[in-house]
Amino acid sequence: MSGNVLKVSGLKVAYGGIKAVKGIDLEVNKGELIALIGANGAGKTTTLKAITGTLPPCTVEGSVSYMGESLKGSKSFHLVEKKLAMVPEGRGVFTRMSIQENLMMGAYTRDDKAGIEADIARWFDVFPRLKERAAQMAGTLSGGEQQMLAMARALMCHPNLLLLDEPSMGLSPIMVEKIFEVIRNVSKEGITILLVEQNAKLALQAADRGYVMDSGLITMTGNASDMLDDPRVKAAYLGE
Ligand code: ATP
Repeated sequence: MSGNVLKVSGLKVAYGGIKAVKGIDLEVNKGELIALIGANGAGKTTTLKAITGTLPPCTVEGSVSYMGESLKGSKSFHLVEKKLAMVPEGRGVFTRMSIQENLMMGAYTRDDKAGIEADIARWFDVFPRLKERAAQMAGTLSGGEQQMLAMARALMCHPNLLLLDEPSMGLSPIMVEKIFEVIRNVSKEGITILLVEQNAKLALQAADRGYVMDSGLITMTGNASDMLDDPRVKAAYLGE
């Protein structure tokens, strides 16, 4: 398939009187890695939630089309069935399940046992700390370990679109580098990714295109490499 995996048009989200998203357009094409950057409270997480269709429908206006269909009113388990994987802020691992069980849950829509086992082995190779702790409850993992697990679990369904919300948050510099290496690698393998990040530099360095969000609006968009050179982006988001 070519063309867009995700098309957001005229999206608005209001929480009571608070207009968090004020009418944005955004597109993610197959195979792209898109960075959505912006300051705290800009509306990035709200945008991701609106994309997954999990916000109360009355709060959302405009249209979101994923693989040509609307996800309004979806439940989390529908998303995995549709191969839309989200790694939320705060990770969202199943805390009372082991690492191994979390990974199996990520693959619950699949029935290729050998493929699932091969994927688990792959993620244990990428993240040896998960392998060492395979039987440990996910709730007892460190923040960085939970981030690794959340990412691996999301990828177990072979998503058409991977939504990542602040994957670098709260991680040590070494872990941030590791997580971004994984993001770049899965992107190279052809997985389509929408990445929300406060760390604008790392996000734009990894991305094909970027969007800047400010106070509920998209204020800039373009090729990620051009954006890295843009004086406005440099001043506002790269600390240069
Ligand atoms: P951050 O980088 O700090 O996570 P963000 O860009 O992801 O910020 P959002 O979390 O989308 O921003 O928040 C956008 C605005 O909507 C903020 O002003 C926030 O206070 C408000 N908001 C978010 N969730 C709710 C909610 N459930 N009820 C009321 N207001 C909310």
